[in-house]
Amino acid sequence: MPASRPDAPPSQRSATSSLDPLDLYGVRDQLSEEERIVQDAVARLVDEKVLPVIQQHFENHTFPRELVPELAGLGLLGSSLEGYGCAGMNAVCYGLICQELERGDGAIRSFVSVQSSLCMYPIYSYGSEDQKQQYLPRMARGELIGCFGLTEPHGGSDPGNMKTHAKRRGRDWVINGAKMWITNGAIADLCVCWAQTPEGIRGFIVETDTPGFSAPAIEHKFSLRASVTSALYFDNVVVPERNVLPEVVGLKGPLSCLTQARYGITWGVTGAAQACLAQVLEYTKDRVLFGRPLAANQAIQIRLAEMSRKITLAQLLSLQLGRLKDAGRMKPGHVSLAKWNNCRAAIEVARDARDMLGGFGISAEYVPIRHMLNLESVITYEGTETVHQLTIGRELTGFNAF
Ligand SMILES: Cc1cc2nc3c(=O)[nH]c(=O)nc-3n(C[C@H](O)[C@H](O)[C@H](O)COP(=O)(O)OP(=O)(O)OC[C@H]3O[C@@H](n4cnc5c(N)ncnc54)[C@H](O)[C@@H]3O)c2cc1C
Repeated sequence: MPASRPDAPPSQRSATSSLDPLDLYGVRDQLSEEERIVQDAVARLVDEKVLPVIQQHFENHTFPRELVPELAGLGLLGSSLEGYGCAGMNAVCYGLICQELERGDGAIRSFVSVQSSLCMYPIYSYGSEDQKQQYLPRMARGELIGCFGLTEPHGGSDPGNMKTHAKRRGRDWVINGAKMWITNGAIADLCVCWAQTPEGIRGFIVETDTPGFSAPAIEHKFSLRASVTSALYFDNVVVPERNVLPEVVGLKGPLSCLTQARYGITWGVTGAAQACLAQVLEYTKDRVLFGRPLAANQAIQIRLAEMSRKITLAQLLSLQLGRLKDAGRMKPGHVSLAKWNNCRAAIEVARDARDMLGGFGISAEYVPIRHMLNLESVITYEGTETVHQLTIGRELTGFNAF
C-alpha cells in the first residue's frame, strides 16, 4: 500500500509532520542563543571537515590529527574552563559540542573529552598556578596533547586496586607501573598519570619525553579506529615535585575527572544515534520492496519509532543533566544513570539501523556500522554499563555491591 493515497480516509493518509525527526521534543528550542550558536558552529565543522575524511581514517586506523587546530580554533579544547585561554562555556554547550562531534565520529569526541575533561580539568582543578600557566593555554590551542592514565591491565573497573606506584627520591618522584587502553597515549605530549603513593593515590603530570616512559599504540582494534589507544609503561620515570598535582589525594581525584567526561559522553552518544536514525530514515523511504517503500511497513515504522523514543529520552536526560551541572547540582549518580541509559540507547539504535540497511549495513560507506562499533568502546569505557548500574543500585539501597 502506498504511504499516501489521496482517496484514503484521513486516518490512512500520510501526514506531513512538522516535528524534527532528530529532535522530536524540540530540545533545541530550550537552548539559549549562545548554546544554539555553539551547536551550529560545531555542526558546520563536522559537516565540512570531519564527515569528508572520517570513513577513510576509520578504515586506515588513523587519527585525523589535522583536525586538532580546527577543534582548537573553535574553542572546543577545555571549553568549560575559565581563563588560561579557555572559552569558559557552560555545561550545556560542552554537551552540545560532544553531541555534534560524535555525530561525526566517537573518535573525535573521545579526543576532545580526554583533552578537556581528563587532562585539562585535573590540571585546572587540582594543579598549581605554575602548572596551569605552563600547560593549559597550550593545550587549549592544541599545541600540547594530553592523555589520562588510570586504567591498568589487571582491571579498570576497580581503580582502587592500583599497582602503578610513585616513591619519593629526594625532591623527585619515581614512577613504576603500566596503564592500558589509554586514549591519545601514543600522540600525547603529557600524561596525567594516577599512581599509588604512601599518602594515597596522587596525580602526576608526566611529560612523555621523560626517560623510561613509553606508549605503544594498541593495534587491531575494531572500535574507535580513528582514535589512538595505547598502553603506557613507566619504568623508573623520574618526575619533579613541581609536576605533582598538589590539591588532591585519593581516588576522588580521578573519579571527579571521569564524572566530567561521562557527562559529555551522555550527549555524545546521542549524536551517534541521531546520525544512524537520519541515515536509516532516508534509506527506508527510498528503498522499495514488495512494491512499497520500506518505511511504509508497520514493522519498520515501529523500529523507527523505537529509535526516536530512545533518542528523545536520551536528549531530555542530557539536557536536564546539563542544567543540573550548570546549577552546581549534578551528582555522580545522575551521571551514571544517563551514561548507562544513553549508551545503551545509542548502541541499540546503531545496531538496529545497521540491520535495516540490509547488506549495505555492513559497509563503512554507511554510518551505522562505524557508530555501532565505536559505541562498543563507549559503553565500556568511563565505567562499564554494569559499573553504572551498580552505582545506581548503591544510591538506591545504600549497599555497596561492587
Ligand atoms: C577505546 C578505549 C579507550 C579508553 N581510554 C581510556 C583512557 O583514556 N584512560 C583510562 O584510564 N582508561 C581508558 N579506557 C579503559 C576503560 O575505562 C576500561 O576498559 C573500563 O573501565 C573497563 O575496565 P576493563 O577493560 O579492565 O574491564 P574489567 O574491569 O576487567 O571488566 C570486565 C567485565 O566485568 C564486569 N564487572 C566488573 N566489575 C564487576 C562487578 N563487581 N560485578 C559484575 N560485573 C563486573 C564489567 O562490567 C565488564 O563487563 C579505555 C578503554 C577503551 C576500550
